[in-house]
Amino acid sequence: MTQQVLVLPGDGIGPEITAEAVKVLEALKVSDGLDIDMTEDLVGGAAYDVHGVPLADETMDKAKAADAVLLGAVGGYKWESLDISVRPEKGLLRLRSEMELFANLRPAFLYPQLASASTLKPEVVAGLDILIVRELTGGIYFGQPRGIRTLENGERQGFNTYVYSESEIKRIAHVAFQAAMKRNKKLTSVDKANVLEVTELWREIVDDVAKEYPEVEVKHMYVDNAAMQLVLNPKQFDVMVTGNMFGDILSDEASMLTGSIGMLASASLDANNKGMYEPSHGSAPDIAGQNKANPLATILSAAMMLRYSLGREDLAEKIENAVGKVLDQGLRTGDIYSDGDKLVTCSEMGDAVVAAL
Ligand code: NAD
Repeated sequence: MTQQVLVLPGDGIGPEITAEAVKVLEALKVSDGLDIDMTEDLVGGAAYDVHGVPLADETMDKAKAADAVLLGAVGGYKWESLDISVRPEKGLLRLRSEMELFANLRPAFLYPQLASASTLKPEVVAGLDILIVRELTGGIYFGQPRGIRTLENGERQGFNTYVYSESEIKRIAHVAFQAAMKRNKKLTSVDKANVLEVTELWREIVDDVAKEYPEVEVKHMYVDNAAMQLVLNPKQFDVMVTGNMFGDILSDEASMLTGSIGMLASASLDANNKGMYEPSHGSAPDIAGQNKANPLATILSAAMMLRYSLGREDLAEKIENAVGKVLDQGLRTGDIYSDGDKLVTCSEMGDAVVAAL
């Protein structure tokens, strides 16, 4: 059956980079019989300008009905003074919460051709290939009660609640184990079980779920050590799974090991592997409309979409290999350019990936 993909280009460089990902998917429809229908709609500031809200109800309904959503980026100077309730980012948050996207997958993958772009020594990061699985809808960012209260002595006190239920831990653990099964079968679960009871339970449940995946080698690591190991010896990791807050921090740390924001894809999945796919970067208003942006993070997000939601691992790999070939040819957008490379535009990069498929 034809699968439905909702494309939400968004703002800033969003329309430019998603156009290149769509170009790649269109090429695969012709060359490899990829059976998808793509429909476009508005999100973020672009939706606000037309509907007065950053995500119209009809768009939300289309997203829920689709097999996958491919998103560019939202936000920009034009909408910064809007009331917080209608800012472009609210469109993203609504998509994540109403689609129940509890699992965020962020690969930190370094193409060997770009090893010199990292701030770490090339020998430390060359060959880096980590997948961080972050729980996205629970933990301390959502726990109740929360707030700022005044104590009897008149002093104010801020408080949040770090909670995870067994079912929340179980479902994110399954996502991580399944991802590990498709990779090198090594999983590191990150917690602070020596101090926080909530992560003591986390560790216990991860060990329970592990029994269903005997081929996966499981390690537990305290978050402070994980932060250190990521810069000391990042290549020891294959898949890492952790809660919302630790994942927020560690995934940014890991992504920066690769040194290139324009290369990093992401996926956010629900319980049925339906998901939303987007580059890890923002809408880059400083270079919007100039055909300068790097479309590879969005093209690689489309590859993740083929892998996790559309059941086409073969085509995901095909895209990833094509990106490798293009980098071998020395083609670079400005963000990953160094002396001696061939500087190309956003659309030239997309054309080159299509040619390399
Ligand atoms: P940003 O990621 O948009 O840009 C940071 C820097 O990286 C800029 O210099 C930009 O030119 C560059 N950059 C980013 N993506 C690039 C690409 N593909 N190719 C080449 N260069 C690229 O972050 P920011 O400047 O902090 O935020 C800009 C806007 O994006 C804000 O409105 C912010 O709220 C929004 N934002 C959106 C998302 C999202 O849609 N998921 C995420 C982060 C920020």
